[in-house]
Amino acid sequence: MYPNWLVQRAKLTPDRIGLSFENIEWTFKEILEEALLQAGCLLTAGVKKESRVAILSSSHPQLVFGIHACLQLSAELVMLNERLSESEIHYQISDADPDFVLVDSKYKDKVIGTGKPILSWDELKELRPEEVKVELEWPSDRTITIMYTSGTTGFPKGVRQTVENHTTSATGSAFNMGVSPDDVWLCTSPIFHISGFSILVRSLLYGMRVRLYQKFDLAPIVDELTAGEITRMSVVAVTLERILSELERREEKVHPNFKTMLAGGGPIPSDYLNRAFAKGIPVLQTYGMTETSSQAATLAPEDAIRKLGSSGKPLFLTHIRIDGAAGPNVEGEICVRGGNVTPGYVGRNEERPAQIDGWLHTGDIGYIDEEGYLYVVDRRSDLIISGGENIYPAEVENALVKHPNVREAGVCGVDDTEWGQVPAAFVVLNCEVREEELMDFARTVLAGYKVPKAIKIVNELPRNASNKLMRRRLTEYL
Ligand code: AMP
Ligand code: MG
Ligand code: MG
Repeated sequence: MYPNWLVQRAKLTPDRIGLSFENIEWTFKEILEEALLQAGCLLTAGVKKESRVAILSSSHPQLVFGIHACLQLSAELVMLNERLSESEIHYQISDADPDFVLVDSKYKDKVIGTGKPILSWDELKELRPEEVKVELEWPSDRTITIMYTSGTTGFPKGVRQTVENHTTSATGSAFNMGVSPDDVWLCTSPIFHISGFSILVRSLLYGMRVRLYQKFDLAPIVDELTAGEITRMSVVAVTLERILSELERREEKVHPNFKTMLAGGGPIPSDYLNRAFAKGIPVLQTYGMTETSSQAATLAPEDAIRKLGSSGKPLFLTHIRIDGAAGPNVEGEICVRGGNVTPGYVGRNEERPAQIDGWLHTGDIGYIDEEGYLYVVDRRSDLIISGGENIYPAEVENALVKHPNVREAGVCGVDDTEWGQVPAAFVVLNCEVREEELMDFARTVLAGYKVPKAIKIVNELPRNASNKLMRRRLTEYL
């Protein structure tokens, strides 16, 4: 059993600020009050213990209170991604089979026709709240959230994340990074994704304030980072790059109060890490996924330069091994074990085992060096085999962004009669340059067989809702 996170937090530090959005702040006690009020309305609407509730909403305080309201009723959440198309949302709703769908009014149209009772935040407020009896303790195996993996490969799977999964994740993260009562985490990551949701969980477990943004708004976000209130933030490669470009343009550094930027979700090019170092930003490279309820390994700041490119060591409560690797520096599939690893999937994947002998097989290729540091090479499914040679797109992308005019790069395999497959590259520029010059550059930094057959200049790369590169969709640009 674990304590009811929000009730426990409101008991421990009721008057500390837990959430701020624009110019409004809420203490933990006020968050609990909001949650209980809405829980009462949800109860009136028919939501009860173990109801499954799907939520489709933008990241505003109403969503935070709505999540906590459902959890106070001991309901399960299905976190729907607001950037999905209508048919993708319908797929996930039919797969997860929730009892209710809670939505922003603007999204109501997207869920009509799913056959599920729909309730908007506005309608919810009109209901007369019933009295809520909260559970003070939660069983560790209770499902808190169901999240669909971002679907950069294959068909999305609904991943279950339990009380124990989230609690272990937040605890392990704290053991790694440390926490202090004046920490404030800037949340611009989507809450429906584990990168954002895990910030809400840490907030309750650590008693930490979350500064919430509805989306990644570059100028105000860089203002926040230079102002001194924010101490932590989570980014993916593309958001890190945008912050760096803006700081470089302004010739500013982040405020010395800022402690760590957790960078994950995909490979972070070493060029970005070097630029971050120059701007005084301690970037912690991290490796994790929906199935591990956020971080599995994280690089400590003191190793950031010495172990550039590594995702660090496993968190205190998590184990990592490389399947089939007899020793250090041998590549293989990354496997993860620990209290943060999902017990399984829902819907049509319910029977699919999430673990084999207690280990999650991630589908990612990596190796562990002689000092125990993990290096994530790439997704196994993105591997390009060209004339019998293995080419990892991440390595080619990493090399291309070293060119000063290249801001972002995406690489995928394309069919080739001679070699089977060859890499093709797509780049976003920050300053004009001819494709031939980029080709010449690629030839100087990459082995011949890794040099892309073509380098195409595009305005933007295809990304999913968490801003992760979707390599499978790159071929649409051909
Ligand atoms: P998701 O479940 O949507 O968060 O996606 C997780 C996937 O992102 C992992 O399985 C990896 O393929 C990729 N990923 C996460 N962190 C890293 C990292 N540090 N380096 C390379 N790939 C990563
Ligand atoms: Mg995945
Ligand atoms: Mg560059």
